[in-house]
Amino acid sequence: MDQRTFGHLMVAPLVEAPDGGVVPDVVAHIAPDPLDPLFDEEAFAAALRRKRTGIKRALLDQSLVSGIGNIYADEALWRARLHGERPTSGLRKAQVSLLVAQVRDVLREALKEGGTSFDGLYVNVNGESGYFERGLKAYGRGGAPCERCGTPIRRDAFMNRSSYTCPRCQPRPRGARPAG
Ligand SMILES: [Zn+2]
Repeated sequence: MDQRTFGHLMVAPLVEAPDGGVVPDVVAHIAPDPLDPLFDEEAFAAALRRKRTGIKRALLDQSLVSGIGNIYADEALWRARLHGERPTSGLRKAQVSLLVAQVRDVLREALKEGGTSFDGLYVNVNGESGYFERGLKAYGRGGAPCERCGTPIRRDAFMNRSSYTCPRCQPRPRGARPAG
């Protein structure tokens, strides 16, 4: 079992996965995570362009890609200098590649620090907030200077949670309203 997917014990029927293996039926509809060898960047880019949504919502959409929680999405978007409200349909291929590369880096670093890919679980198994303390550039840093440009990081409400962005490095797309 993939420790990054299963944080608790569960019993579920097994069904055939697209790769011919078997997975519990409850996760059969979940797309691979970006560190999975089965993750298909071309297919992901194509699916993004078909969606009528913002990038951050797409990153959190488990039918498109799994393993990315709210915190890791904010971190990857900050690194890629993309605002989460930017429409996925307007993303160029190079921007998708860059974003995927940043997501992978964030996930790898978090895993190395003992974090998990679960949203909100930025503490490691010993209850220490290693990655949260040391690695985060955007998430949870509202009002603190952006490490790239010094502009205060901005916090916006997002789907009952928060989004953290640098207003200068990640300009909000024109016409987009703050997400509530
Ligand atoms: Zn900045």
